[in-house]
Amino acid sequence: MKYQGINLENVKLSNRSSILLLLNNSGAMSRKDIAETVGLTAASVTLICSELMEEGLIVELGEANEEKRAGRKKILVDINPGYRSVLCIAIESDVTYIAVTDMKGKVLCNTSLPTDKEIDPEEFFKNITDECQKLFWKNGIVKEKVLGAAVTIPGSVDRKNGVSLNSYNIWTESIPVASYIKKELGIPVVVENNLKAYAQTEIYFGLGRTVNNLFVLKWGPGVGASIIIDGKIYQGSNKMAAEIGHMIAIKDGRDCNCKRKGCLETYVSTKAIKQELKSVFGKNVDSVFNSELFDNPKASDIIDDKIDMLARNIRNVITMLDPKNVVLIGYMFEISGCVERFIKAYKQYDPLVSDDFFVRSTLSESIDHTEGLAVFLNEVLLTQN
Ligand SMILES: [Zn+2]
Repeated sequence: MKYQGINLENVKLSNRSSILLLLNNSGAMSRKDIAETVGLTAASVTLICSELMEEGLIVELGEANEEKRAGRKKILVDINPGYRSVLCIAIESDVTYIAVTDMKGKVLCNTSLPTDKEIDPEEFFKNITDECQKLFWKNGIVKEKVLGAAVTIPGSVDRKNGVSLNSYNIWTESIPVASYIKKELGIPVVVENNLKAYAQTEIYFGLGRTVNNLFVLKWGPGVGASIIIDGKIYQGSNKMAAEIGHMIAIKDGRDCNCKRKGCLETYVSTKAIKQELKSVFGKNVDSVFNSELFDNPKASDIIDDKIDMLARNIRNVITMLDPKNVVLIGYMFEISGCVERFIKAYKQYDPLVSDDFFVRSTLSESIDHTEGLAVFLNEVLLTQN
């Protein structure tokens, strides 16, 4: 299956996909406006819309308000949120989140379980599918109505074969995630790196709908990124592009899970920062490492040092990629004052940068661990030829 973005000018999509994508990105539209936007005849759009309505993928919403006043009928159509649902499984270093969403990302039900790194991965995935079955049963979700599952996980992923190759802080071995889940649930499964999934969500539901070149930076338990070029996620030839946490920050530095030394993540991840804070604050580290982190001058000095290291490395990345914006996500950027300090540190290396270059994602709260939906839509529904 091809991996394609939404840039209609550059990507040849089937007429059907073009209409679905347009409705996803722009919301309800009349058939006439659809025809004008995608460059099809009104007759073709009417025909395709009839087919999509018969399948239940789109619905009619009634007349557009302004047209009513003009005395002309203009019926709006939109993607049917209740067409099917998608199971989103977000595996993070400490917690695994499970959610069932409708086609527009509304969470129908959800649960979570600790990410258990101590047990055999196959057993852990059996625990996940058991939780999914329970969630379906409790909430009356019929499996036949679930289009499929999307699993998002840190680290490198072989998306084609549904394998997590190395999730660094969780498991370092290769794990056939899709086959474990498919065996138990019997539905299609797509597996994607968590940051690429986030970027795909930006493309379909966020800033990526209007901006074609973006860099998404996540700073939390790990440091990760994703590159969107011309509306598509840049994968790299080994699917390992944008692993910025593993850029070498210090020569002959700390050992990293990726088997190299001195990686950025070994200095600036929350785990690494907590360890350094521990040497100063001992057992009180958790009372310091919270939303008022910068109120403590000693802690603030330590973090500013990390912010500087991150900002310097990001400046080098930006030099290469020249994106329109950098989207900041992750726990560290949620700490009060952190974004401002990061931008200030960045400006030391790039004084001419515009004030609106760095943006906080507008999706962070609304998508709530359901990045898998965009991955699934991209793979299965919106970009089929
Ligand atoms: Zn590394």
